Amino acid sequence: MATELVDDSNEAALVAAMLASDKVPDKNQAGHCFSCDTPMKGLYCTECGQKNDNYRRSIFALAGELIGSIFSLDSRIWQTWGNLLLRPGRVPREFADGARTKWSSPVRIYLAMSIILFGFMSWTNTHLMSLDVEAVVKDGVEKPYEELTEADLATNWQTRFFETQKDIDTRNAGRDFKLLDIWLKGNQDRLTEQAEVSLEEAAAIDEELPEALKNLPETNVAKTEDGGFNITIGGERLGGEQGSRFMMNLIKSPALLTDSFNKYLPRLMFFMMPFTMLLGAIFIRDKKRALLFDHLVHAAYIHALAFFLFLAGILLSKVLPGIWVFRGIFIMLLIYLPWSLKRMFGRGWFKTIMASYMVGFIYLFIMILALTGFISWDISKTLALA
Ligand SMILES: [Zn+2]
Repeated sequence: MATELVDDSNEAALVAAMLASDKVPDKNQAGHCFSCDTPMKGLYCTECGQKNDNYRRSIFALAGELIGSIFSLDSRIWQTWGNLLLRPGRVPREFADGARTKWSSPVRIYLAMSIILFGFMSWTNTHLMSLDVEAVVKDGVEKPYEELTEADLATNWQTRFFETQKDIDTRNAGRDFKLLDIWLKGNQDRLTEQAEVSLEEAAAIDEELPEALKNLPETNVAKTEDGGFNITIGGERLGGEQGSRFMMNLIKSPALLTDSFNKYLPRLMFFMMPFTMLLGAIFIRDKKRALLFDHLVHAAYIHALAFFLFLAGILLSKVLPGIWVFRGIFIMLLIYLPWSLKRMFGRGWFKTIMASYMVGFIYLFIMILALTGFISWDISKTLALA
């Protein structure tokens, strides 16, 4: 009896010590697993992996613990991001080799970064790119303002990056849109005359266009020989008046373009990720280190990193010119990608760099093609309603 008592109290002391050795409140823990009733030997059940925590405490305490764990320095999220940024290729290699609890999962950080970036852009009304066009009277032209024609005007075109609609409105407040209107109308009329594509010819080229585009009521969009678009609505070609109105709207409010851009980009990304996996597997293959799984893990981390760079870029563009920031991101990715692939797959530098840039080039090409298709589809709908 006496020895059993000692054993019991000994065991109770061991259980108490085990429960006290973690941060979970002891009242939320038990000596046996909550799921499978196996005696617990640590914070996690040795049989089923259940954590020794029933979470039965106030929602505020749980939220506090969650926030605390996110901001604690040894937290997995910070470790993962620190290594992703400073040691390209390390996280995907170790994760793919099995270190699942050491690093945040690629799918999780991909989804989180995607939601943060695109959510932030739509919340702040940020346009990735916008057109800045200014029309000015050419040097030496001395006509009165009312008599100016397209030929008397010159235009400065610039692409701006990471501007908010507010930035664009501020900039446009100082522009003379009357001059731009004269220039656009004149130009559009001239282009319309030059476009000699008949409706029959257009229908022939039409086959290359997405099905959905052709099915729009009364609207016909065809590629012209010089690579532009020839749009007819109800049999009438889009002329100077409509064209200039459309351009003007686009310059004043790029939302016309960027709304569909922002709408389709995140969706497109879901296809681009597995597509990147396949592309990578075309260039780098072996049965030990370069399974499709390895390529998928790498693709997800790389996408998350690129989203992070764009988010940082948007913030940085508040103090630096957007075009510098945009180029900076591009150059960083050009350096990062081969570096990461090198550590991931351990091939020679020449092969790695070739593979990186081939994948990057095909990736951009496909993405731009798809986005152009989606956006022009959206625009032709807008035009059909105008
Ligand atoms: Zn268990």
